[in-house]
Amino acid sequence: MAAVHESVLDAIGGTPLVRLARLGAGIAAPIYAKVEFLNIGGSVKDRAALSMVLAAERDGLLKPGGTIIEATSGNTGIGLALVGRQRGYRVIAGVADKASAEKSDILRAYGAEVVLAPTAVPAEDPRHLFNVVQRLAEEIPGAWLANQYDNLANPDAHIRTTGPEIWAQTGGRVTHFVAGVGTGGTVTGTGSYLKEASGGAVTVVGADPEASTYGGGDGSPWYVESIGHYLHPDTVEDRQPQALRAEVIDSYERIPDRESLLTVRRLSREEGLLAGPSSGTAVAAALRVARRLGPDDLVVVVLPDSGRSYLSKVHSDAWMREWGFLEEGSTLRTLLDAAGPLVTVDADATVGEAVELLRDAPGGVAPVVLKRAARPYGVAAAEVAGSASREVLAAALAEGAAKPGDPLGALVGPALPTVGVGQSPDEARAVLGEAHGAVLVLVDGRVAGVLAREVLR
Ligand code: PMP
Repeated sequence: MAAVHESVLDAIGGTPLVRLARLGAGIAAPIYAKVEFLNIGGSVKDRAALSMVLAAERDGLLKPGGTIIEATSGNTGIGLALVGRQRGYRVIAGVADKASAEKSDILRAYGAEVVLAPTAVPAEDPRHLFNVVQRLAEEIPGAWLANQYDNLANPDAHIRTTGPEIWAQTGGRVTHFVAGVGTGGTVTGTGSYLKEASGGAVTVVGADPEASTYGGGDGSPWYVESIGHYLHPDTVEDRQPQALRAEVIDSYERIPDRESLLTVRRLSREEGLLAGPSSGTAVAAALRVARRLGPDDLVVVVLPDSGRSYLSKVHSDAWMREWGFLEEGSTLRTLLDAAGPLVTVDADATVGEAVELLRDAPGGVAPVVLKRAARPYGVAAAEVAGSASREVLAAALAEGAAKPGDPLGALVGPALPTVGVGQSPDEARAVLGEAHGAVLVLVDGRVAGVLAREVLR
């Protein structure tokens, strides 16, 4: 029988382990999911929020009438709103503008105030989410910035609760622990506890989006929210969170976005576990790990939050098609193959360099993209800054409005509209409208090619 609690705060933690029997079919090592979306606030971050607030009270950083402030992907904000409001504080959540709208709505419902700010700008940019919340914390009297990335009460929550729960629930049989890495609190706290309890026998695996820098990617954008480490090319000093202790992680599994997203969709359909995209990354990693193991091993993987916050994203077929993650029966794929190699123009190119590049561009247009040293994963849609047109540049040169050595600057046009490779030519024509001569076609959320209006008939 389930427990009776005098406060919701006592109902944080104590989540079940559920065997992934269908996804793990044919794999010798059993895989168990730690279902963290069954926490009372709906995610693993309830644990960290409670731990951080109690520590701040204990350390005198948070006093009656105080305000809790945090930059959060949503889940930490929900945890802080839940805990903070229960304990009588005002709560302000700074949310990344790319996070799903549902997350902000939930925060407001719990009584938090929401401030939206970008994260896809250099870390030094005053508009960056982290700088926005930092300023608020300095301006508001009695404010306390939870700072989950550097707050050691975050991993400590998992040393005291998540780790011991998993050890007890598996009767000490767990041999591998797999979790996504955002602040690193979950993987560091749980991982270090399990290593200590097992005398060093438990292997800890970080599940990371392929492009994230944690596992060795270039830090370009990816499509799984709340995990991984993004790096804007203009960021000068890249700081690692103190909640993450790198030595606890034995290895990383680097998971491409499509694998993460398709895996979380299987998790709901085949296992009855409706989870968010970071659970897809974690389970995809756990499956890779378990395939290399035997029947005496036991893998535990964390499902951090519920799929209810992502019904309009990963759990929507339309969204999956729009970003090029689903493509059965695609006709655009055939057109794309015929269109020739993708031409892109770096945002810091000169007019002369752009004209040269545009010589072979279909439709005489190409996306202008944020410059990176190398592009092992292609150009993510979020890195497209605008478009360059052969016609516009040639006219500017002919009229003397620009010289070949000038930066592109003012001659950059609006970004071309995008379609997913799985959408139809009709849908592509519809997004084109009257204003544009071409569309960008996305495969796995990355620009795979440009289709001119003429070829869409
Ligand atoms: N998945 C989701 C959905 C999350 O909200 C978070 C927290 N940002 C994580 C994974 C990563 O957890 P942690 O911060 O403990 O590394």
